[in-house]
Amino acid sequence: PPPHDTDAPIRLTDNDAALAKLSAVRQNYLSDQFIKHFVSRASFQPSRPPLINVGTFVRTKAIDDLVNQWMDLSSKEGKKCQIISLGAGSDTRFWQLATGTRKDCLSKYIEVDFPEITMKKAMAIKKNKDLSVVLGAPADIQLGQGGTAISSPIYHLLPADLRSDPSIALGSLTAATENAARLLDPSLPTLLIFECVLAYMSPQESDTLLKWFHTYFSSREDGILGAIVYEMFGLGDSFGRVMLSNLKTRNVSLPGAVPYPTLESLPSRFLNLDYTSAHALTLKDIRRTFIDPIELDRISKLEMLDEIEELDLVLEHYAITWGLSTAHLGNRKAPWG
Ligand code: SAM
Repeated sequence: PPPHDTDAPIRLTDNDAALAKLSAVRQNYLSDQFIKHFVSRASFQPSRPPLINVGTFVRTKAIDDLVNQWMDLSSKEGKKCQIISLGAGSDTRFWQLATGTRKDCLSKYIEVDFPEITMKKAMAIKKNKDLSVVLGAPADIQLGQGGTAISSPIYHLLPADLRSDPSIALGSLTAATENAARLLDPSLPTLLIFECVLAYMSPQESDTLLKWFHTYFSSREDGILGAIVYEMFGLGDSFGRVMLSNLKTRNVSLPGAVPYPTLESLPSRFLNLDYTSAHALTLKDIRRTFIDPIELDRISKLEMLDEIEELDLVLEHYAITWGLSTAHLGNRKAPWG
């Protein structure tokens, strides 16, 4: 990277996320046949500690569940849905969904990240038939913007800095250009996923982003927008201080986690921007209350995990927050109650 590339440490967090996923897959917490293609020398990578594997499992299951509910809601509305993963990194959710039982419900799946990351991802997709075949026939898959972008019938990969003006950085999503039609249809139920991303930008920057999407989808009678945020929070205590100082040694800061000292403060991220409703749960509560006991029993046998208090301490500093904007739902039942 260039000498003053302050974003390089932020981009490196993608590798951590991918290695954590790979580790949880290897140890049989999760199944994901695609993640190995996004990790270099995958078979030589060491496993993560059991505690991290359990965290990856809980977070992934919880987001999967919200995404599945979203797709079922769209089907009930008689519509296909659009999903946009912001700061998608090496995430494989598109490949899972596009080969899963709800695949016919997907109208568009769009991933956005820094160009350095999308370039790497585009290369991995081009190189691997297992990945590219899911996008469609070779003639339907186009590389663009110097190899940093991909477009195909459903899947699109876009390079952008999420901190810059969304109408410029993400303009192709909502406005037609000379060469291309706009990507997003405002009449389709649309889900934003921010998995471990917003903490790296300022609250003003993430507000601008959430507001921009909200404005686009609330401009229509039938616009429905949902958003899922997975993030650390409550970093003011001793655990938080340890975590922040670990990150500091790697030149990563978390300006986006600062405004959220408590679980109760998390929904304000959406409510302050006029989203219709919002909820948050910690991974600790999700693990105890929402994960299928049969699954919990199965994973408890995978590895020795004796520090259950330490597990709770870590899991209670991570939360999933979801917000919904359905101003014109009328008296139809709101999803995700
Ligand atoms: N969402 C993926 C997951 O959960 O596996 C990746 C998470 S990784 C911890 C954070 C990702 O957000 C990285 O790929 C990073 O490049 C991306 N990111 C952070 N800030 C960004 C920004 N301002 N613009 C675009 N991407 C950003």
